[in-house]
Amino acid sequence: MSISRREFLKIAGASAIFGLGGMAIINEITDDIEASQFSPGPDALIAKRWAMVVDMRKFKTEEDYRKIIEACHSIHNVPDFGNPKDEIKWIWTDTFEHAFPGQEHEYMEEKLKRMPFVLLCNHCDNPPCVRVCPTKATFKRKDGIVMMDQHRCIGCRFCMAACPFGARSFNWRDPRGKDDKGRPFIKEENKEYPTRTKGVVEKCTLCFERLAKGLKPACVEASNGALIFGDLKEPNSEVRKVLSTNYTIRRKAELGTMPSVFYIIG
Ligand code: SF4
Ligand code: SF4
Ligand code: SF4
Repeated sequence: MSISRREFLKIAGASAIFGLGGMAIINEITDDIEASQFSPGPDALIAKRWAMVVDMRKFKTEEDYRKIIEACHSIHNVPDFGNPKDEIKWIWTDTFEHAFPGQEHEYMEEKLKRMPFVLLCNHCDNPPCVRVCPTKATFKRKDGIVMMDQHRCIGCRFCMAACPFGARSFNWRDPRGKDDKGRPFIKEENKEYPTRTKGVVEKCTLCFERLAKGLKPACVEASNGALIFGDLKEPNSEVRKVLSTNYTIRRKAELGTMPSVFYIIG
C-alpha cells in the first residue's frame, strides 16, 4: 500500500474526528508503510537493537570530524543554507558542556572541555519524539531505529520540542532551492536519496537505506574505527565488546530516554 502525503493527511484528519478508531487506522497504515518501504532485502544487515559507540580518543584532527559529517550530509542530500540559524544537521559537533550538561566541572581536563563531541540522533529506546508525533511520521522500528518519514510530516515541530538532544532540524527554507547568488543549497545531489521540501523535519535515520543493502552507516565507514556500530543484543558483537571493556557515558541519561549512542571519552 502506498499513500501520498495529501491522502495521509485526509485520513489523519478523519481519524481525529473519529477518535481512537481513527488511531487504529493510522497504526495500520504505519505498519503497512513500514512493511512495504523498509523491509530488509536478502543482503541486509539486521539486528535486534542497533547501537553506536563514539570513541572520542580517535578524533584528533579537524579532518577526522569533517570526513564523517561530509559522508553523511553529502549522501543524504542535507542542505547547507549557509546560516547557523537555519542549519540542518544530521551529525554535528558541540562542546562537552553542551553535549553532557551537568557532567562538566571546573577541575575537568582542559583538553576535554575544548574537544568537539560528535553528536547525532541517539535512537533512544524510549523516544519522546515518537510519542508526540501526531501523524507517526516519526516512529521506532523493531530494531531500534527512530525513523523519519518526510512524506507524512506536517511540520508541527512537536518532535523538535520533545527531543532533549537537538537532534531534529526543520526546513525553514526550500532545500531544493538556491541562495541569492544562485548556488543550490544541496551542493551535489545524490539522485539515489530523496530530497526534502520546505516545512518538514529531518534527522539521522541510522542509514536504514544502507543497512538494507548490507552496508554500514556512512559515518561509521568514513570514521576509520572511531565509530563502532552493531547489535546491542548480540553478546559477541563489536559494540558489546567495546562496551564491556571501556567506560562509556550517554547523553542526559537522567532523562530516561535511553540513548543508543555511547561515548568513550578517554
Ligand atoms: S535523540 Fe531526539 S530525535 Fe533522536 S530518538 Fe532521541 S528523542 Fe528522538
Ligand atoms: S514535525 Fe515532527 S511531530 Fe510533527 S509531524 Fe513532523 S515528525 Fe511528526
Ligand atoms: S548513521 Fe547515517 S544518517 Fe546517521 S549520522 Fe551516520 S551517516 Fe548520517
